[in-house]
Amino acid sequence: MQPLLIATHNAHKTEEFRQMLGTWFEIVDMSVLPAVAPADETGSTFEENACIKAWHAAAHFAGPVLADDSGLEVDALGGAPGVYSARYAGPHATDADNRTKLLAELKDMPAPRTARFRCVIAWLNPGAPVRCFSGALEGTIVAREAGTGGFGYDPVFFPENSDRTLAEMSAGEKNRLSHRAAALAALARDQGFRPVAAW
Ligand code: IMP
Repeated sequence: MQPLLIATHNAHKTEEFRQMLGTWFEIVDMSVLPAVAPADETGSTFEENACIKAWHAAAHFAGPVLADDSGLEVDALGGAPGVYSARYAGPHATDADNRTKLLAELKDMPAPRTARFRCVIAWLNPGAPVRCFSGALEGTIVAREAGTGGFGYDPVFFPENSDRTLAEMSAGEKNRLSHRAAALAALARDQGFRPVAAW
């Protein structure tokens, strides 16, 4: 199988991509390149940051590279944390720190606190220009965390038409409706990969 480099240090993201693309590629991530420092995410859009990460990783890898940039947009916060989702509570914030800050900011805001996850995937095949694909998942922010699955803001995000947070779902359920799966489906259509059954 052809190796595909996922340009991330986030093992949760790698695992989600492995579940969705693992029948087509041998999935590796930046942990196979320990000497390479993370890319500086200096872009102001998900698309810019996805491209920055893809080009940065491709300089150290001979095969195809996939980079995703993703985050949460909360309407009552004017779209924040957006591209700053990973660093919302500070440069070294943990996922738990970010969720605590988010719930504190929204404490006095009436429900429903509408929000969406967005994902842009940059796909870089050697010798070809980068191509970008996007996906979104609409939902609301709950008042209290629920569930232990997933990562990031999953325990506080209630997808539209659902009765549970993303963190209360199985990995397979999340991968059927997530913003990352939607962006990947657009890539798969463009490149002619057929989605695996778990989608
Ligand atoms: P990135 O790695 O720079 O794309 O940062 C993405 C950040 O957005 C993560 O650290 C999470 O805080 C958040 N995020 C992105 N996708 C998800 C998801 O599927 N579930 C929960 N949080 C997510």
